[in-house]
Amino acid sequence: MSDTGLRASPITPTVDFSADGIQHGFLRLPYSRDDSAWGSVMIPITVVRNGEGPTALLTGGNHGDEYEGPIALFDLARTLKTEDVSGRVIIIPAMNYPAFVAGTRTSPIDKGNMNRSFPGRPDGTVTPKIADYFQRVLLPLADIVLDFHSGGKTLDFLPFCAAHILPGKAQEAHAFDLVEAFSAPYSMKMLEIDAVGMYDTAAEEMGKVFITTELGGGGTSTAKTAGIAKRGVINVLRQAGIVKGKAAVSSTQWLDMPDGDCFAFAEEGGLIEPLVDLGDTVVNGQVIARIYPIGRTGVAPCEVHAKMDGMLSARHFSGLVKAGDCIAVLAIAV
Ligand SMILES: [Zn+2]
Repeated sequence: MSDTGLRASPITPTVDFSADGIQHGFLRLPYSRDDSAWGSVMIPITVVRNGEGPTALLTGGNHGDEYEGPIALFDLARTLKTEDVSGRVIIIPAMNYPAFVAGTRTSPIDKGNMNRSFPGRPDGTVTPKIADYFQRVLLPLADIVLDFHSGGKTLDFLPFCAAHILPGKAQEAHAFDLVEAFSAPYSMKMLEIDAVGMYDTAAEEMGKVFITTELGGGGTSTAKTAGIAKRGVINVLRQAGIVKGKAAVSSTQWLDMPDGDCFAFAEEGGLIEPLVDLGDTVVNGQVIARIYPIGRTGVAPCEVHAKMDGMLSARHFSGLVKAGDCIAVLAIAV
């Protein structure tokens, strides 16, 4: 038991976080199961350290069906050199590794949604055990945290880097500075609908400078969005003074999600007809989608209205929707 009253994490790293140089290894989590009595989940990790300096903690695959982050981080892990770094870079391309291997948002082992599992538990199932290791071991090592997301199989986003409005204005300003340096085509002042249990919240409450992304979606990636991710992560490391050189900053359009009116949810299930596309501007009251009942013909579709003026920054991806699905997210150009 530690001084927090919690037992130690069952995860054993095969890397030494305090050693200089490059190490490629694993976070090994014992997972006893039918096909492997004394088996483990092996989460790939790279640590690059070169003397004293700040630590960046870089993660993808928090949700297993979002691919730009894993692409950028598997690439960074094989190309970053010790001599490029001042301080330390911890790279985990697939945080919820079982979900990433299965190509699903949540873990096939325990249905755990990593981004609703914080602070986690050392004596929980696999997903809360991973969250607990981030909460009590990895986040305390970090100065800046970049957690990549995309829309996954059910959402599609304008490509943006984001940070949250925070009570601590110095912490918030540092995060927005890194978002600007990431230089995605769009930069978002992000509002969450469901912040409890998020990795974001855990990092921010610890005082860490936390930024995230939404870089596309649909359960795949594109050349464009993968390129944005690869350029963005190096830019952030440069801006933080961890990697030599100046961030290759290009212009970004800042967007703001002012309140809950930016979200539109389906009140009926059915076949969705989008009436606007990502990046289109809409006005308050405009019909932005129709949902056709699919049980019979001759029935009028349900209309989804915008509740504010703004730009379509995210949309439901799949062609069929269920009641309660998020259909659209609007944002205001700043
Ligand atoms: Zn995600």
